[in-house]
Amino acid sequence: AKPLVEISDLHLSYTMQRATIQASRGASLTIAPGEAVGLVGESGSGKSTLARALLGLNDPKSTRIDSGSIFVDGTDVTRFGERDWRVLRGSSLSMVFQDPLSFLNPVMRIDRQIVEAIPKSMRAEGVSERVDDLLRLVKLPQAARRSYPHELSGGMRQRVLLAMALASKPKLLVADEPTTALDVTTQAEIMDLLGELRQRLGMAMLLISHDLGLVSKACERIYVMYAGRTVEWGPGSSILKTPAHPYTKGLFDSARALRLPNGLFATIGGDVPNLAHKIEGCPFRMRCPLAMPKCTTMSPATQVLGQDGHWVRCWAAQDSGIAPAQGNDVK
Ligand code: ATP
Ligand code: MG
Repeated sequence: AKPLVEISDLHLSYTMQRATIQASRGASLTIAPGEAVGLVGESGSGKSTLARALLGLNDPKSTRIDSGSIFVDGTDVTRFGERDWRVLRGSSLSMVFQDPLSFLNPVMRIDRQIVEAIPKSMRAEGVSERVDDLLRLVKLPQAARRSYPHELSGGMRQRVLLAMALASKPKLLVADEPTTALDVTTQAEIMDLLGELRQRLGMAMLLISHDLGLVSKACERIYVMYAGRTVEWGPGSSILKTPAHPYTKGLFDSARALRLPNGLFATIGGDVPNLAHKIEGCPFRMRCPLAMPKCTTMSPATQVLGQDGHWVRCWAAQDSGIAPAQGNDVK
């Protein structure tokens, strides 16, 4: 099938007064129609940058696409202007973010905010019934209609945002850390709801999180991002059982350590590289237990692992065949 989203080797930079941040340095990602895709990586690895590039939400004044391309539904959107983006966001693409409160109008009742999210072309259908439908879809009580955002819990606000995102019947929902600000129980409820909605509506989803466990439960395929580039991707099961990039393994170790009773958090040693600087070779080599001389001078080629669409960008994965046999059990 033709991909719904195709991002190819995207290089993007933010220009600030004193520095240029190259926040995307070779990010590639595809999403098939109806597919749930996860994007994971540490803070600052460029996940939100990529999501905003896909949604046309980066500030055009300070953001430049240096090379690479983004296609949505067969259309090249790489050079889209604000008006084109608005049309696309009103028809094919929607999003929810971490902090619903900052996207809601504090002095407007919920029902009006949902009405305003319904594209003009769909308002003929009967707006009030449509709001009812949307509230039911996200499992909000009808009583929430007349509420103001501050009267709702964090989980309910995220449902409102979800209702607004679904109002345009999008083909793709981008969810950037949608549950990070919520408590564990509410987090699980929202994740269940997302899964259910996706099945019912047949829409694709890009789920962004630093939590590999959460993403692997909700998504069919996973991309791992490091220092602005996608370094490993494939079916969730394959990434889980045989992570090939040392960074992905590090993420698993951190995730597993979270469950240890001693309260220690096994992070990957070292620092994320500064994205204002040029990086020669592999961006992970300074923190990599398997780094070799080649990694300093040559950027790793993308290579395929097996038949199921599992890819990795790492010289060590090729040279030593390090894919572990024991697998991972992050829940
Ligand atoms: P997190 O997990 O913390 O949300 P992330 O993976 O989403 O992180 P980004 O927010 O995309 O990462 O940031 C990638 C890099 O770009 C960081 O170095 C960040 O400081 C920088 N950056 C992000 N947004 C901007 C902006 N609008 N202007 C300048 N630099 C930015
Ligand atoms: Mg982010």
